Amino acid sequence: MPKIIEPARDIDVVHETDVLVVGSGPGGLAAALAAARAGARTTLLDRNGCFGGNITQVGVEGFAWYRHEHTVDCEGIGIEFEQRAKAMGASMPEPQSLSEALDAEMFKWVADTLVEEAGIHPMLHRLGVAPILEGDAIRGVITESKAGREAVLAKRVIDATGDADIAARAGAPVRKTPKEQMLAASVMFSMSGVNKHRFIEAVKADPQTYADWGGNGEWDYETTGKEDAMFSPFLRKPFKKALEAGLIPKHLSTIAGTWGSVTDQGDLTYLNLVHMPAIDGTNPDDLTAGEIRGRREAIYAMEALRKFMPGCEGAKLRNFGMTIGIRDTRKIDALYNLTGEDVRGEARFDDAIGIFPEFIDGYGYLILPTTGRYWHVPYRALVPKRVQNLLVAGRSIGGDHVSHASARNMMCCAVTGQGAGVAAAVSIQRGESFAELDVAAVRAQLTRQGARIR
Ligand SMILES: Cc1cc2nc3c(=O)[nH]c(=O)nc-3n(C[C@H](O)[C@H](O)[C@H](O)COP(=O)(O)OP(=O)(O)OC[C@H]3O[C@@H](n4cnc5c(N)ncnc54)[C@H](O)[C@@H]3O)c2cc1C
Repeated sequence: MPKIIEPARDIDVVHETDVLVVGSGPGGLAAALAAARAGARTTLLDRNGCFGGNITQVGVEGFAWYRHEHTVDCEGIGIEFEQRAKAMGASMPEPQSLSEALDAEMFKWVADTLVEEAGIHPMLHRLGVAPILEGDAIRGVITESKAGREAVLAKRVIDATGDADIAARAGAPVRKTPKEQMLAASVMFSMSGVNKHRFIEAVKADPQTYADWGGNGEWDYETTGKEDAMFSPFLRKPFKKALEAGLIPKHLSTIAGTWGSVTDQGDLTYLNLVHMPAIDGTNPDDLTAGEIRGRREAIYAMEALRKFMPGCEGAKLRNFGMTIGIRDTRKIDALYNLTGEDVRGEARFDDAIGIFPEFIDGYGYLILPTTGRYWHVPYRALVPKRVQNLLVAGRSIGGDHVSHASARNMMCCAVTGQGAGVAAAVSIQRGESFAELDVAAVRAQLTRQGARIR
């Protein structure tokens, strides 16, 4: 590939802070709130115009759809997201679980409110493009925006980009699943004008279960058996009929999946029906192709619903997600990398910064936490190798495929976020590096913040 040399240039330092959180999904938003509440001057930076990450930017509303009667759940900021959304009219009961489905649009306002209340310095519309390094220590991040390049300096940085963008560019070792094996990418969408009564009656007349997920690519899952007869808001039959009727091209037998909520006003939301393999979310050409292909497939899915799903006859597109949904990219090689055995074997760690139920969704597994089993989330899984002053929160913490299928869930991202935010504040207060941090002090502060650590 031909190359050019970019000339060196002076960059304005537009802002200085204690803790800089890059990326504001469930991981980053929780991290910023936790750091600010632990007394650190905190800045939350995102490339887009709203906080919330996949919740608000992709339209992922099922925040705790794993929760059932006997689930032992985490506590802390993730639960607060759900409760605050409910109190602010930004959620609805989720159809398959004891949880609230977030309203992706309203959650933008919930996130703004939480950020303002905590006194966090907001910086939207800035892409973090390069770490500022002194030796192996990160001192801030260079951003790119309508204002050009700017520098933001910080005592500690939390990479919550989902893709470990900052960690990777700072030279921390990361791994990526081969593209063909990555979890599929999805363009999410919602419809309006749905007749709720007719839709729900049709769902009740032919209730789908997790066993119905089987037999087709992305939705082919191994369960423990106890999940199989449970209700799932799953749709495949309308698309099968559309394939048979020639309404959907034959190669799109991948169209199937779940719906989230249907409102009294006729909005059918969180339509997770389009699944595209082999898209690397760190490659802009893959992202471009995925956005265009995903929208086309969503249009096919809508046509099938209008024709073959009662209640959808007069429905139309309400919105696509602001951006394609990416499930799986870089993971850091952390001081401790989680394993499938950890999440399936109720691992216990002395440096736990939170817990998460035995909920696994992805890489061929669907295991619901219906029995009270849970695993400890270790602090060391957030600490990258080789780079100082940097933690990672959210879906790019250290771990293998099966542990990712658990830790990637938004509630767990909030657990790692809260742990990272508190750890950053405590590390500044104690003058200790992340590698040598007194985790007992972090755990004590997390307990004060209402997190469950054992
Ligand atoms: C289609 C789809 C459906 C899903 N369904 C569910 C579900 O039902 N339940 C569930 O729990 N999980 C679900 N997930 C998984 C879950 O949404 C993610 O794993 C989770 O949101 C990851 O959280 P995060 O905080 O790590 O990152 P994200 O939510 O991805 O947030 C990252 C944030 O960082 C910003 N950002 C990225 N790079 C930069 C940069 N360089 N500079 C500045 N900002 C940057 C982004 O704009 C974004 O706001 C789903 C995922 C997808 C894609």
